Amino acid sequence: MGALKLRSRLMSFVRNSDGAAAVEEQSDGVLVIENGKITAVMDASDFEVKGNALSECEDLRSCIIFPGFIDTHVHMPQLGILASYSDQLLDWLERYAFPAETAFCDPAFAAAQAEHFLHRIIALGTTCAQVFTTVHAHSCESLFSAAETKNMALVAGKVMMDRNAPEQLTQPPVPCARDCEELINRWHGKGRARYALTPRFAITSSDEQLALCGELLQGHTDVLLQTHLSENLQEIAEVGRLFPHARDYLDVYEGHGLNCSDATFAHSIHLSSNERARLLDAGAKIAFCPSSNLFLGSGFLDIQSIPRSHLSIASDVGGGTGLSMLHTCVEAYKVAQAQGQRFHPFEAFYAITAGNASTLGLADEIGQLKSGLSADLVVFDPTKPSQLAGRLGTCVDLTEELFAIMMLSDDRSIRRCYISGELVYEGTNQTWA
Ligand SMILES: [Zn+2]
Repeated sequence: MGALKLRSRLMSFVRNSDGAAAVEEQSDGVLVIENGKITAVMDASDFEVKGNALSECEDLRSCIIFPGFIDTHVHMPQLGILASYSDQLLDWLERYAFPAETAFCDPAFAAAQAEHFLHRIIALGTTCAQVFTTVHAHSCESLFSAAETKNMALVAGKVMMDRNAPEQLTQPPVPCARDCEELINRWHGKGRARYALTPRFAITSSDEQLALCGELLQGHTDVLLQTHLSENLQEIAEVGRLFPHARDYLDVYEGHGLNCSDATFAHSIHLSSNERARLLDAGAKIAFCPSSNLFLGSGFLDIQSIPRSHLSIASDVGGGTGLSMLHTCVEAYKVAQAQGQRFHPFEAFYAITAGNASTLGLADEIGQLKSGLSADLVVFDPTKPSQLAGRLGTCVDLTEELFAIMMLSDDRSIRRCYISGELVYEGTNQTWA
């Protein structure tokens, strides 16, 4: 098959040696894609100098091509409960999240929802995610299968719960660990799939289950771990009651070897300085889920207290209020503002591309427009919606442009998505705004 050549404005995000996020831009660039990988990124003028004809390229100069966006924490079965009116975390889990996850007992429903979930995230420019499925092994299986048909980089795990949840959503520790191991053996490293061990949180796992999770993590050194930590004050009090021997919330995980560089802890809002220091020392990552933290009234993450290399950004749907990573960055900006902190648009775009790729250990595969990486791309149409187009007309520099894109874009702005060099989504040409 011949190479795919796209001519467009290209933007990719890097971290400078001084630690600041920066943009690498070709205002008129060419991206060459072969066998699913980016094989060249260059200015259109250089492309011609090398003896190529620009007429070979598809002309997308009205668009911007970004690396595909990455979400480090999202719940596949909770898409249907977006916008559910409730009290805070524990009430919301009981009233909405657990019933929604119980519906996944049905394998046919789970399979249909897995497809639907991937379509929804891709339509918003997300080409890779780390995903909670449900306690049912078939829900995880379905999601991996659906991602495999798109040759999509996906990190996922079946949820581990053995108490404090509806009976249909719990499973004794030993059969649960056996199911996890089977999923790891079948999927981890198959194509672009990676497995993440997924104990929901300390409240719904006994020490025995967390111990088995730790053994699985040790036995499969490149497998990831995803869970929740220190999200809500009531939750933290309940963890203290359930684990009276633990010195704090992190200690519950730490005691079983789960505080490690393969771990992503969602939220981590209310950590003590000692917990934070231990988490960072272990090389673990925090998934900042601003729309969820605002929606569930969980609190404001102090992002200045966390080195950027340990901080990823995530939608946390359905506690989060939307799957769009750009929307998530808007909420991150507001959380920073509310604390008198800054969240620069370069940091935002870096986070949802190269930064989140690093968190998942996938920086050699995704996150930038760079030769050798997978061609997972968003073709962004800055003419939609019209509010964005109008604002871009008055922007004076890249900071203003990217900030406007982050603030004012919506699903109409996502013109196309490519995964492994294949066109997997083409947006409709709605012109109303
Ligand atoms: Zn979550």
